[in-house]
Amino acid sequence: MLERMVNPVFRGTRSWDAGATSAAFFAATKPHMIGRSTVHVLKGGMNSLAAALSRDLVLMLNTRALRIEAPASGPCRVEVERDGQGETLEADRVVCAVEGGHANALVPGLAPEDRDFMARVRYNPPGMVHVRLNRQVAARMNFFTDRAGGAIATYQKIPGNEAQGSHPLLYAQLIPEANRRARDEGMTDRIHEIVAKDLRRLYPTLDADRVDDHNQWVACMLPEFYPGCAAEVRRFLDRQAASRGRLHFCCDYLAQALVTGAAASGKAAAGWLVAQGGIDHRRNPCVRSRKDCPVACPAPVDSFRAEYVIMPGSGIRNGAPSEDFAGYAKAVIDGMTIHVSGTLGQGEDGQPPDDAGQKARNALASIDKALKQAESGLTDAVACRVYITDAAWLGEVFRDIRPTNTMLICQIPTQGAKVEIEITVSRAG
Ligand SMILES: Cc1cc2nc3c(=O)[nH]c(=O)nc-3n(C[C@H](O)[C@H](O)[C@H](O)COP(=O)(O)OP(=O)(O)OC[C@H]3O[C@@H](n4cnc5c(N)ncnc54)[C@H](O)[C@@H]3O)c2cc1C
Repeated sequence: MLERMVNPVFRGTRSWDAGATSAAFFAATKPHMIGRSTVHVLKGGMNSLAAALSRDLVLMLNTRALRIEAPASGPCRVEVERDGQGETLEADRVVCAVEGGHANALVPGLAPEDRDFMARVRYNPPGMVHVRLNRQVAARMNFFTDRAGGAIATYQKIPGNEAQGSHPLLYAQLIPEANRRARDEGMTDRIHEIVAKDLRRLYPTLDADRVDDHNQWVACMLPEFYPGCAAEVRRFLDRQAASRGRLHFCCDYLAQALVTGAAASGKAAAGWLVAQGGIDHRRNPCVRSRKDCPVACPAPVDSFRAEYVIMPGSGIRNGAPSEDFAGYAKAVIDGMTIHVSGTLGQGEDGQPPDDAGQKARNALASIDKALKQAESGLTDAVACRVYITDAAWLGEVFRDIRPTNTMLICQIPTQGAKVEIEITVSRAG
């Protein structure tokens, strides 16, 4: 389950290895693993939360905090920069809701053990590629296990919508190892080069259909909940609660690494503020009109159901009468592996041609056609078994692909048949 279902999703959507993730994270974020199936999302989109929370607050936008001081007595001081101008704000209390990796630079007065904790907060940096296409595609999504090889963790075909002016897209997200390579080799703006070979394999007409590429690198996407992290967070939160200081930290790295975690952490910070006597707006030195606030709720986004193609045991039929007669499928998809039944190589008229070479070509063309239904093809072949009644020839197709090969001379129980070919392909490459 971890290898086939959990890890592919983790590697793909979060660029983490599930095996290196704290058990506390699963308990907090995976309701289906504890028998619940409903995930609640915000009806008006993510931004509606920020808009609702800020409704009665005064906001200073485009403002960078440079330094926070929260002495035991006297006002807290926050140095900020806005439109190139420096300013120092004074406050009774400060909530620092920035990524944990920034806290040490921002708050020089942190106690040593809190500094150590903040220094250990890590974020994953996923790289993604979006390829705009000039040809419509059907919705599809593939997750790749870590045994799959290649640089892609998730691959998506996203249909375009002419009415909404959106192009069809291919989307690929890197596996964690490829993210490290992008970062270490300075390729964060050339992610398309890292995935080019895999993308061409998954979408053979890539070069003809591509309009352009967009490389996306998110330096800090989600905090990494490494084993032992929950205990460290607990100790930090306990120290924060016990200190009765006037500086409070919150963010997803202190709860769990998603919006729900950020919200839970924010709720705790709001509770702390209320317990301290709430916020007195009249004393706020940076009053701005709410009219200036550009935060707006976006229109609701329609979701679509992706078609998942990796279904153990799902079969591909080509409609031959013998499929029902003998009870078999032309091909069976088993995760990343596709097994194709022995194929004889009849011509379009249903009769086997006389020439063994032509029979072999027909068989391979028929196998390739079946594989195309699963977004694969002969170029993914890893094993080939050939049963012949006398010598036949396959090198023309397989010279460059070089699957394993077994060839047996035997009898084939179909009149006129001289060759039967059985192929196994792997879509993991
Ligand atoms: C590409 C991407 C996709 C995601 N997808 C999902 C998803 O599908 N579902 C989900 O639940 N979660 C998702 N997340 C995670 C989710 O967005 C975060 O967990 C959540 O937004 C964290 O909120 P936060 O308030 O804790 O921190 P953040 O949203 O990181 O807010 C911290 C803020 O502090 C600001 N800041 C930093 N330093 C300073 C400074 N010196 N001065 C002033 N401001 C500063 C930053 O600009 C930032 O706005 C995704 C994240 C990313 C990046």
